[in-house]
Amino acid sequence: MRTRLIAPGVAALCALLAIPASAADATPGAPGVGDPYYPDYGNGGYDVSHYDLRLKYRPSTDRLEGTATLLADTTQALSRFNLDFALDVSEVRVNGRKAAFARSGDHELEITPSAPLDKGRSISVVVRYSGTPSKVVASGFTSWLRTPDGGVAANEPESAWWWFPSNDHPTDKATYDISVSVPDGTQAVSNGVLVSQSSRLGWTRFNWRSSKPQATYLATLAVGRFDITDNTTESGLPVINAYSKDLGDNAGAARASVERTAEVADWLSGIFGPYPFNALGGYVPNVPTGYALETQTRPFYSPRQFANGSNVSVVVHELAHQWYGDSVSLKRWSDIWINEGFARYAQWLWSEKEGEGTGQELADYVYALHPADDPFWKVEPGDPGPDNQFALAVYDRGALALQALRNKVGDKAFFAILEDWPTRNRGGNASVRDFVRFAEHESGRPLAEFFDTWLFTPAKPSAPAAAALRLGASRPQQPKSWKQIRATDHIHDHRR
Ligand SMILES: [Zn+2]
Repeated sequence: MRTRLIAPGVAALCALLAIPASAADATPGAPGVGDPYYPDYGNGGYDVSHYDLRLKYRPSTDRLEGTATLLADTTQALSRFNLDFALDVSEVRVNGRKAAFARSGDHELEITPSAPLDKGRSISVVVRYSGTPSKVVASGFTSWLRTPDGGVAANEPESAWWWFPSNDHPTDKATYDISVSVPDGTQAVSNGVLVSQSSRLGWTRFNWRSSKPQATYLATLAVGRFDITDNTTESGLPVINAYSKDLGDNAGAARASVERTAEVADWLSGIFGPYPFNALGGYVPNVPTGYALETQTRPFYSPRQFANGSNVSVVVHELAHQWYGDSVSLKRWSDIWINEGFARYAQWLWSEKEGEGTGQELADYVYALHPADDPFWKVEPGDPGPDNQFALAVYDRGALALQALRNKVGDKAFFAILEDWPTRNRGGNASVRDFVRFAEHESGRPLAEFFDTWLFTPAKPSAPAAAALRLGASRPQQPKSWKQIRATDHIHDHRR
């Protein structure tokens, strides 16, 4: 029944006037945040504050299904926006209403809400999805690691695409509730605090909560049959570690290393300031890879890290990242030295504490190890390029730069910088250039030229520059800790 007698042209005009000005200006959000190394990682137009993931995973088939609810704020008027995701999507809702969606590229999910979104508005996005993550190839690979008893999501920079839709860039950090249902007798391990666990009809649900800002690549999930240890640090933090039941000959060494987590975190707090999160731990699933990763509050370790016996050095590295990389995250992936230079230097400080070689001795050794024509020196740790993001030089030359800084400004200023930086930037993002300015301010010395030499020059620093290292013997002895540190070199060779 027609109740209105308005000409169609007038109706269209009325509808147009009813749209707020900002929504009328709505445009699509960018398909990336503009990171030069990875142009289509993350997305523009909104900022996620919270991820609620409610998942179900069946180890026998590697089938993952779930519902993700994202809470976000728009930063522009949006006609549509993207999430990064590779699994199959069955439904999307924005603010409770069904939204249209389409795929583009190899990991972009384009969402068109039923009406444009104003700028500065809180929105909810619900995505229902499913898939077999080990079979889903994006950018030529899958990050999902299959184990004999389940699966694991832990990789850098790409990990989220295979298990939850996200704004996949470290500049958009958020809190997480990750709830995972798995068959009884199997465990689901993730970040943060285990809030609750319950069983019903043959399925056990694990509810994990991360209440501090967390980057997408630092969210992790491991499903399998684990032995779980549950302790509390002297300061009262819950420590949950998990070990696959089938680690074989590596089981003892893995536990003898990862069970040192609380001790190492306490020691690091004495250098970097208070531990930035409210939970601690680590896990060792039965994966065939060789790397480790600083997944927030609960690092991932491949069993191969312990193939030659215990290795506390790798635990030191991943826990150092909780301050340098996790609490203070990089702004662009080119800032990777903010993470890796410091995590490697923490290994040197541990060696120094253990009487197995000082930072100075390790620096002398690294400097002498690589002759001037070694390609090692071609990599600039301050901007290594996407192909060299995890090159050895980012770690070893990166740590060398810190020993040089220590010698240049003296121990007092140096250790004040190491402690004040994570405190000042807690929960945020920072760049290499930000660190240079910070170190200048804290030490009261101009350091731009110094850092250019150590971080931004594709050549071995010359003898006068290296004088900052106070180089001792021309052929320094190999420090005792060298082999153990060397064993962690491929710590972030993530696709091996
Ligand atoms: Zn690292």
